Amino acid sequence: MASRDVNDLAYSLQAEYIELREKYLRRFPGRDLVLTCTYRSPGEQAQLYQSGRSRPGPLLTNCDGVRTLSRHNVYPSRAFDVAVLDGGKARWDEAAYAPLGEIAQGLGLAWGGSWKRLKDFCHFEEPQKGGHGK
Ligand SMILES: [Zn+2]
Repeated sequence: MASRDVNDLAYSLQAEYIELREKYLRRFPGRDLVLTCTYRSPGEQAQLYQSGRSRPGPLLTNCDGVRTLSRHNVYPSRAFDVAVLDGGKARWDEAAYAPLGEIAQGLGLAWGGSWKRLKDFCHFEEPQKGGHGK
């Protein structure tokens, strides 16, 4: 099972997550932000990759955990996924995440919702040179 523990994030990213959450909650009282994934092992990444390809439905990731690793697959993790809770219920619509992406980018984070292929509104990571991974 992938980690949801903030302590499994790179130290600088922990601080950025906390700041992101504070800024978002200030703007949207009544909502909350929870971590749904921080570190994910390469084995779990491979499973996630396969599960998006062995059944109908959306692809979950472009990273297969073998040739391409996600920023979740290094320890400590360089990426995190969140869920927006609105009145205690999870929201998965773009409108809930767009302001979050805006705040995150202001903090210098890369946001999966701005990617050209396989947009991932719930995903945030440290910026890196030469592309990205989920
Ligand atoms: Zn992610």
